[in-house]
Amino acid sequence: MQISEDIIRSVVTQVIREVRGQVGQTTASGSTCSRGFAGKFGQFDNADQAVAAARDAFELLRTRPMEDRRKAIDHIRRISISQAVELGTMEMNETKIGRLPHKIEKLKTLGERAPGTEFLTTQAFSGDKGLAVIEHAPFGVIGAITPVTHSLPTITGNAVSMIAGGNTLVVNPHPSGRKVAAEGVKRFNQAIYEDIGVDNLICVIREPSLESAAAIFKSRDVALICVTGGPAVARAALNSGKRAIVAGPGNPPVVVDQTADLDRAARCIIQGAAYDNNLLCIAEKEVFVVAEVFDAMMAAMERAGAVALNNSQISKLTAAAFTEVGEGTHKHLAPSKELLGQDAAKLAAAAGVTIDPKVELVFGETREDHPFVSIEQMMPFVPFVRCRDVDHGIELAKQYEHGYRHTSMIHSRDVRNMTKMARAMDTTLFVKNGPCMAALGLGGEGYLSFSIAGPTGEGVTTPLTFTRERRCSLIEDLWILGDPRLNDH
Ligand code: NAD
Repeated sequence: MQISEDIIRSVVTQVIREVRGQVGQTTASGSTCSRGFAGKFGQFDNADQAVAAARDAFELLRTRPMEDRRKAIDHIRRISISQAVELGTMEMNETKIGRLPHKIEKLKTLGERAPGTEFLTTQAFSGDKGLAVIEHAPFGVIGAITPVTHSLPTITGNAVSMIAGGNTLVVNPHPSGRKVAAEGVKRFNQAIYEDIGVDNLICVIREPSLESAAAIFKSRDVALICVTGGPAVARAALNSGKRAIVAGPGNPPVVVDQTADLDRAARCIIQGAAYDNNLLCIAEKEVFVVAEVFDAMMAAMERAGAVALNNSQISKLTAAAFTEVGEGTHKHLAPSKELLGQDAAKLAAAAGVTIDPKVELVFGETREDHPFVSIEQMMPFVPFVRCRDVDHGIELAKQYEHGYRHTSMIHSRDVRNMTKMARAMDTTLFVKNGPCMAALGLGGEGYLSFSIAGPTGEGVTTPLTFTRERRCSLIEDLWILGDPRLNDH
């Protein structure tokens, strides 16, 4: 008989549970948490219970050495990488948006590159009066809201950074990505529990709703919230009365000036805008090209493999791509669920054209006031707008970024134009001559996170984002370069 990995896992878990005592988890000092959440592996139907379990887990984690945080994070990394194909496929099948290879790659990349405990460096000031040490302490339980666009990858990145900082977290995932969120969280917790005997470092609401999000926001045991999503959740977090880290929406513009390497610009725009069918919040959403090189840029896009749509095809696509939502004065256009995150070939079909299914991006010329320019649409169609000159391009980029100060890009060889745009846009991420993901260390320098906190200013989140600074001062001693007491008389 062949024994499956699941059977072995459940027997091992059962044994560990019995050894540690059914009612709770044993702390390093020998005391036990009494609420009996061990063995739940972070699976909860009720927000209050989830917060209570995360609170117990936090109390336990704070008694443990830094090495245990490292071990916990290593399990999250290992599972994200080694089970990326299975979990990525699960996410694709559940959310039905984006592209499978990128779902898999996102999990792997976050597993490999989300910043961990190495970010927690201590600062010290020493002098005649002694020694002051600044260390980074956890907040406690963090409430995390995650988007459908990267359900499990966002949890992976958040969990690595938050646990590195010594916190535990309760996640309210997007309802359309809740199953993969719960499955990933279960696997992470199970492995961590088997190794270090602490369960529920990450708790997840299995049937998330706006009510469960509100309960997490309100809970007295939640010290901090971190939301990753669109305008509604960003507003809700800012109005929650709690300290909030808000990774909000964007509508990243690209400017291409007359000095740009057009073939390189085209390759970068396709790489960024077509990634996971344009679901990235940092992805190139609209392009402003100076008139002098506009036609040459369109030709470069075709050479790089994108397919151009003409005016009437774009009109047909637009009619299918947006629907009116809201009531009365709040009526506005929003991306239609049928085309959001779908393949370029499906968008082309809606435009009345048949293209090779391997084509990653469709594009075409539009006016500046087109819905594809103004709305954060998350589809692999990119509108190109003709501009008088670079100043006009930057002005439009600023207008259609809507003041989110999220991400913008320029393709140029003129450092003055780069500087001018960087100053005008003032975005959290600004990429020169690369695809959007270069700003997250993927093809550029720096580190990675899928929670980019623009509105509240933390930028690309790290473990430090989720810590409090604490200062410990020792007066007169441990300053060894001189002894001020010798001069006392
Ligand atoms: P969404 O705003 O529809 O949902 C995001 C999360 O917020 C979900 O879990 C949802 O259930 C929850 N939510 C929505 N309204 C809420 C409310 N009033 N109270 C509490 N929770 C609420 O977004 P989405 O479609 O899942 O993801 C795409 C959006 O997220 C885009 O706008 C994108 O730019 C943004 N995003 C930003 C970042 C970043 O790092 N800044 C990263 C990824 C996605």
